[in-house]
Amino acid sequence: MKNSLDNFELILVTISDGIVVVDAHGLVLYANDSANRIFERGELLGKDLAVPLYPSQGGQDINLIRRSGIGWAELRSAPLTWNKQPAYVIGVRDITERKLADLKLKLADAVFDSTREGLLVTDHLQRIVRINPAFSEITGYSEAEVLGQTPQLLNSGRHDRLFYQTMWASINGSGHWQGEIWNRRKNGEVYPQLISIDAIRDANGQVCNYVAVSTDLSKLRDSELELDFLAHHDPLTRLPNRLLLLSRLQHGIDLAQRDGTPLALLMIDLDRFKDINDSLGHLAGDELLQSVASRLSTQAQGVDTVSRFGGDEFALLQDVDSAEQVASIANDIIRFLSEPYHLSSGVEVRIGASVGISIFSENALTPELMLQQADSALYQAKTEGRGRFAYFCESQTQAARARVDIEVRLRRAITQGELRVYYQPQVDIASGRIVGAEALVRWQSPEGGLIQPARFIPIAESTGLIGEIDDWVLRETCLQGQRWRQAGLPELTLAVNVSAYQFSQGDMAQTVARVLHETGYPAQWLELELTESALMQRETQAIEFLNRLKALGVRLAIDDFGTGYSSLAYLKLFALDVLKIDKRFIDDIPVARDDMEIVTAIIGMAHALRLKVLAEGVENNEQLAYLTAQGCDQFQGYLTSRPVPAAEFEKLLGI
Ligand code: C2E
Ligand code: MG
Ligand code: MG
Repeated sequence: MKNSLDNFELILVTISDGIVVVDAHGLVLYANDSANRIFERGELLGKDLAVPLYPSQGGQDINLIRRSGIGWAELRSAPLTWNKQPAYVIGVRDITERKLADLKLKLADAVFDSTREGLLVTDHLQRIVRINPAFSEITGYSEAEVLGQTPQLLNSGRHDRLFYQTMWASINGSGHWQGEIWNRRKNGEVYPQLISIDAIRDANGQVCNYVAVSTDLSKLRDSELELDFLAHHDPLTRLPNRLLLLSRLQHGIDLAQRDGTPLALLMIDLDRFKDINDSLGHLAGDELLQSVASRLSTQAQGVDTVSRFGGDEFALLQDVDSAEQVASIANDIIRFLSEPYHLSSGVEVRIGASVGISIFSENALTPELMLQQADSALYQAKTEGRGRFAYFCESQTQAARARVDIEVRLRRAITQGELRVYYQPQVDIASGRIVGAEALVRWQSPEGGLIQPARFIPIAESTGLIGEIDDWVLRETCLQGQRWRQAGLPELTLAVNVSAYQFSQGDMAQTVARVLHETGYPAQWLELELTESALMQRETQAIEFLNRLKALGVRLAIDDFGTGYSSLAYLKLFALDVLKIDKRFIDDIPVARDDMEIVTAIIGMAHALRLKVLAEGVENNEQLAYLTAQGCDQFQGYLTSRPVPAAEFEKLLGI
């Protein structure tokens, strides 16, 4: 028995779990070596271990406060009788290591799940074994959808084989790769990500897993873009700011220098803005600025040419045809910025605007200098009483204002019936008879007497007013022609000028047809004069337009021939009837031999093309004699008469 007890004790000594027997009060009656080692409290005998005597059935984990640090033990106990006294035997298992490993895993899990980076773990065959929520968020794939698949699933097709070969060579060589990859989300969107891949090896050095950590760069890129945007734009109106304007200005200057096209910088300052800001508050002020920004942007041709300088200063960068054209733009701006603004508070406000203009033509200006010039022009405009524009250069301002003045008055002239048609006789050289007349517009201005077309036609052309003028002249001429016919006058060909602008409007033929119809004037007696430049503008379209006009039965003449670039051969393409030699070639007959030769050549070739030839600006008999000798068909000029009102023209006819 003793022996067997010894054996039993021997067993207790050798097992690695602790065995402790305590009495009913918890005092230790027996402890094996393992128990002493686990508790680290020296000899346990007689000590109170302060452990629960009735741990739950499956055992209970307790904390151990030990010299070597915190530990965990799992307890199991059972009542027994020890030296005839009721006692308990407690089995103690040190589970510290397992607990620590467990904790570590839990911690790793928490990190894995909560990190904002996408994590992907594959086995050694690159089959996905685990992903984290961030990965799902980035790619759009749930765990169930990717488990067992390979990362090939995300392939965007943006990288070639070599890219992936290099990547894998690095992973298999150094165990690591990092770089940017374009991947594809479940919804098909391709996005950039920064990715870092590690090969995990087991104890034997064999790769067991690959772990990929990825950051979605597209969001980063977006915010970088936003930052960049904010650096170059005004946050309130989202228009480009001064910085961006300066770089655009430089770009514009480069282009202007290369192409020789003028570039205009308009600085716009709101009049009375401060009053509104002060009286209605900043919110209203902000709203107003936004409305101004949107009005300006709507008006501007091209993208992003409007910018805001902070405060109530805006700038507009614009390619222009001429320095004068800027005046109309400036005037438009002043006009539409002065329209009332309806604020969201229900208040209606009005402001004005002043504009300073700087023009880059070929002088070597820097962006800063242009800005300074526009600024000082703006100052000028404001001191002169606001609601105005000013050029940096005073003479430009004067010229432009005069133009604008004419433009305003011309609009009124059209509606108030201040235009007149004068008729200049066209004479058939062979018979010496007046066979027609050219209708030439005049402006009977209430302030300044009779204004010649040279002073207002160019302005009318650049503003589009010419359309209304030409329509009016055409109608007036047809009405007059019809009156003359009804009065029994001999048939006359009445020639009307058509501007290049008007010609390029597609509905020209329609307008002519309507006027003919409404006035009853026969098409065959109407001649339309077109300039070379009108025909040259849109060659193929011009042919089509001319054919359409021709189909109405009217005659077509080319005016001012010799001042443009068209060759006679080129004229063959157009359905013309008459060629009018420009006055320039007639002026110096009979002195200028070369002009005379040109006239001879033109007449010869025009006849070869079956065109009638009319010489313009014939003032004396020498000129007429030469033209007669060369076989010219008709002429018009002061020799017969200046352009005159209808009543006087009738007298010329001898009625
Ligand atoms: P144009 O069509 O070449 O008209 C001929 C111009 O030469 C007219 O000037 C006429 O008065 C002038 N002229 C005619 N004979 C002589 C002459 O012997 N000596 C001199 N020194 N001049 C002569 P005007 O009426 O001042 O018209 C100038 C230009 O204005 C016209 O040139 C035409 O291009 C344009 N124009 C006139 N009326 C109209 C119109 O109703 N519509 C359009 N679109 N243009 C018009
Ligand atoms: Mg003419
Ligand atoms: Mg002419």
